[in-house]
Amino acid sequence: MKFTIAIDGPAAAGKGTISRAVAEHFNMAYLDTGLLYRVVGAKVLAGETPVDAAKTIHPGELQGAYLRSSEVAQAASRAAVLPDVRMALIEFQRDFARREGGAVLDGRDIGTVICPQADVKLFITATPGIRAMRRLKELDRQRSDLSYSKVLNDVIDRDKRDRERKLAPLIAAEDAITIDTSSLNASVAISHVIEIIQKRMDL
Ligand code: C5P
Repeated sequence: MKFTIAIDGPAAAGKGTISRAVAEHFNMAYLDTGLLYRVVGAKVLAGETPVDAAKTIHPGELQGAYLRSSEVAQAASRAAVLPDVRMALIEFQRDFARREGGAVLDGRDIGTVICPQADVKLFITATPGIRAMRRLKELDRQRSDLSYSKVLNDVIDRDKRDRERKLAPLIAAEDAITIDTSSLNASVAISHVIEIIQKRMDL
């Protein structure tokens, strides 16, 4: 069975938590496509050109706590503006989406560009303030230079760049179901999403 679930939305809206839970529930593979851009960002910070970094990416690189840092996230979003970087990452994502057994992909352009034929498209959002609070909790608490206002600025900055770029901007696909998680806890949001997907599978 091939079944593609596309989950898009801005930074720290809860996409990752929801996507992982959905993939586990339906026993599907999961790809956090933000990690691809974060690896590119990390390699750029280490001195590589963005396009070389994107062309040489391999699955073994998609892990490491350092990929979660704000510096890497910012470098990722700057690299993500470049058409050649995005082009270099398309095939890997589309191959992943077509895998047998079903796949869940989360990102910014999954429902619009990577998998416009996805079986279910969701757009997960929340207010910038709530997203910054959630991101702050996830980030390294040992770092005294991290404050709510710094994380909020980072989230707003990245959203603006992601929304305003010409190629594959952050936007809900026309046929996506939008879910605002601002006042939902994770388990309520996950149950709601699982219900939506199950209904689509039963059609
Ligand atoms: O999702 P995450 O916050 O890890 O993504 C990091 C950055 O990678 C985003 O701010 C965005 O610029 C870029 N990205 C993208 N398209 C995707 C996933 C992430 O442009 N599908």
